[in-house]
Amino acid sequence: MVTKKTKSIPSIKVPHKEKVEAWGMSSFSMSPVFRPETEEEIKELFIWANQTGTKVALRGGGCSYGDASSNNDGIVLDLTRFNKVLDFNLKTGVMTVQSGARIKDLWETGIENGFWPPVVSGTMMPTLGGALSMNIHGKNNFKVGTIGEHIKEFTFLTAKGDILVCSPKKNSDLFYSAISGFGMLGCFLTVQIKMKPIYSGKMKIDPVYVRNFDELFEYFEEHYKTADYLVGWIDAFASGKALGRGQIHKATNLKKGEDPDFPGNCLLERQHLPTRLFYLIPKKWMWILMRPFSFNFGMRMINLAKCIASILVNNKTYYQGHAEYAFLLDYVPNWKFVYKPGAMIQYQVFIPKENAKQAFREIFTKCQDRGIVNYLSVFKKHKPDPFLLTHAVDGFSMAMDFPVTKRNREKLWSLCYELDEIVLKHKGRFYFAKDSTLRKRVMESYFPKDNLKKFYTLKKKYDPKGILQTDLYKRVFLQSV
Ligand SMILES: Cc1cc2nc3c(=O)[nH]c(=O)nc-3n(C[C@H](O)[C@H](O)[C@H](O)COP(=O)(O)OP(=O)(O)OC[C@H]3O[C@@H](n4cnc5c(N)ncnc54)[C@H](O)[C@@H]3O)c2cc1C
Repeated sequence: MVTKKTKSIPSIKVPHKEKVEAWGMSSFSMSPVFRPETEEEIKELFIWANQTGTKVALRGGGCSYGDASSNNDGIVLDLTRFNKVLDFNLKTGVMTVQSGARIKDLWETGIENGFWPPVVSGTMMPTLGGALSMNIHGKNNFKVGTIGEHIKEFTFLTAKGDILVCSPKKNSDLFYSAISGFGMLGCFLTVQIKMKPIYSGKMKIDPVYVRNFDELFEYFEEHYKTADYLVGWIDAFASGKALGRGQIHKATNLKKGEDPDFPGNCLLERQHLPTRLFYLIPKKWMWILMRPFSFNFGMRMINLAKCIASILVNNKTYYQGHAEYAFLLDYVPNWKFVYKPGAMIQYQVFIPKENAKQAFREIFTKCQDRGIVNYLSVFKKHKPDPFLLTHAVDGFSMAMDFPVTKRNREKLWSLCYELDEIVLKHKGRFYFAKDSTLRKRVMESYFPKDNLKKFYTLKKKYDPKGILQTDLYKRVFLQSV
């Protein structure tokens, strides 16, 4: 379809619709996808959308688990070709990138020069634009905060078409709301991020087995001051006295001068993992080998095996490369395909520290009672951050991967609604990057009223025609079910 050329409306050729899928494969939209490569192209599309009333969803790496970057009623701007690393100051560690550059680009550019991104997600595939929109956290959130706290400055194209420079001092309102604003106010263009110096290509890892929630919380509280990263892998099938059992990985950076192999072990070829298992089986086939276990009994056995393995290596310190520690699952390409022909959703909730243990007990027990147990649970410690639509709390989060099948879909959604009530009761929060099930009523119950009011005011100011929307925005903000 080609729009009619008039004097003021730019002539835009709208591409054919294609499938735009949630990372967890549980939803998709059929949308025309534009892949701009320059600021001018993005701006032109925004002007055209305002003039034609076209709804636009911005999309980065498409790594949000749910419908955060799909758009059933409009177009999608895929920003992954707007991805140059523009500058890297080796003295200050400040890197300037276009917003479609991925976390992979950051660490691969930084590490051989002794720098690592200050905050990374469990996959290296998100773009900086997507990471800032959701204000992602890492396994070091309790220590360094979210990625937004490491941004020096960015340029931002508001939905109505102005380009503004934002930093904690310049246009600070927009700085603190675009970061966390889930792509609803405009598009990040260039981003300056302060990278973190490292003095080894490896980190010291302490693996610790914990028998239940009591031991899990105790360990985190005792060790977070001496750890750089902390993460718990919890077996959600365990019950009774073993509820909350699992393995913790505490990681600590090596100090300057401690590693004689530095900087040699920062070379990219020593960071990336081999693409074959035992030098034989291509890892891209591994999901096929894992597939026979992708049902309740199989996953129960895998979680049990992981617990037994973690008892065997309990407290046996080892050293691991940064990329391997941070992005292990990326080295098993397409691992999510084990859920096919079904899909998966992730349900991640953040609970204040005084309520967290009780809330997670109730959540795990409810899942077991309902016969839908999550296959993978990841536990982290958090601290509050200053961004408008923050998901963080002074407390803990649990990210839970649930399989979605044709048969369990309705039951799973009902379970999530039940879990929402537990989270609300314990004054918890949800996270748009991981969400597939949140409803407006629940969102309005947990966000502070002032923050929401301010968000709506800013949305009107920077996007008066409401061109920016995603399926998530429509589901959580516009539908009143
Ligand atoms: C295996 C896996 C592990 C993960 N681990 C973590 C984790 O540890 N911590 C964590 O916090 N998250 C984690 N995530 C979630 C992921 O980091 C976020 O969903 C992130 O936002 C994805 O970025 P993206 O570039 O893929 O953006 P998308 O998913 O495509 O989009 C996310 C949002 O950003 C908006 N957007 C995209 N580009 C721009 C732009 N240039 N300007 C303005 N808005 C834009 C979109 O409209 C959308 O609202 C994980 C995801 C996966 C798949």
